[in-house]
Amino acid sequence: MPESSAQLIDGKIYAERLRAQVADQVAALKAAHGLQPGLAVVLVGDDPASQIYVRSKGEHSLAVGMHSVTHRLPADTTQHELLRLVGELNVDPLIHGILVQLPLPKPLDEKAVLAAINPDKDVDGLHVVNAGRLASGQPALTPCTPLGCMILLRETVGDLTGLNAVVVGRSVLVGRPIAQLLLQADCTVTIAHSRSRDLPAICRGADILVAAVGRPRMIRGDWIKPGAAVIDVGINRVPFDDPVKAAEGRTKVVGDVHFKEASQVAGWITPVPGGVGLMTVAVLLQNTVTAAKRQMGIESV
Ligand code: NDP
Repeated sequence: MPESSAQLIDGKIYAERLRAQVADQVAALKAAHGLQPGLAVVLVGDDPASQIYVRSKGEHSLAVGMHSVTHRLPADTTQHELLRLVGELNVDPLIHGILVQLPLPKPLDEKAVLAAINPDKDVDGLHVVNAGRLASGQPALTPCTPLGCMILLRETVGDLTGLNAVVVGRSVLVGRPIAQLLLQADCTVTIAHSRSRDLPAICRGADILVAAVGRPRMIRGDWIKPGAAVIDVGINRVPFDDPVKAAEGRTKVVGDVHFKEASQVAGWITPVPGGVGLMTVAVLLQNTVTAAKRQMGIESV
């Protein structure tokens, strides 16, 4: 197979750039307004992946100069105790962003917990008020991964006006908000899902193809319009191709797009790992600054 023709969209570069911009904004807010944006992350239980994510969020928020608090609660925390903590954070003047790490251990009710977060502090953008604001074109706090995808598209493709965008996946967390953001950017948007007919043909019409499915390498090279921008949100753990490593039970992470094939055809493509996933925490920090500024009525810094 020939070498990749697509330009690689390196999430590391854009995430580092965004974190540096956030650090500048934090410094400017402190200098001009005496305001230090504050992020509270709540982790319930001891899920190993969640622990890694939460540690990373705490470290990155400190690194950009924010006030950062992590609440680690035991797995047997009750709904009442968790809601009480969220209620305290909602009125804590030092905290401008609240993130409750998902998934929550059973039997905690995620929907009720997300609904209890003050929408203006909902830096994960998962409160229905923020989903409604986004859908109706009002200033919203937008889910981090979708916003990260848009930043990558704007940095690489530039003006998206009039482009055909296809989003494969319609989850509340990823597919729907990405589709809303693409619509706001004046794309013609198609949302495809598990009931869509002839998905390859739908994808072939896409100037921008966003895959948020959760099925390893589902989107093949011949589904892609030559020159398209391909954003692969998928994170799927699969056995190594190398049979020796696979036999040892070793796994690796791949996206929803068949990268080897797609990168022969696409104009731009995000790798997995190393693409969209790296943007998520950087956008969380940006959302916290946005939330702090809005709460304090600060237009610009
Ligand atoms: P969900 O399982 O909530 O949604 C998957 C979507 O894909 C659904 O809308 C489903 O359709 C659709 N789908 C499933 N199978 C097919 C198919 N064969 N053809 C077409 N559409 C299909 O997943 P999420 O949206 O939460 O996550 C998607 C992927 O993104 C996952 O791999 C996840 O790990 C990853 N992810 C990555 C993040 C990052 O930081 N990079 C953050 C969040 C998620 P239907 O609605 O009809 O069931």
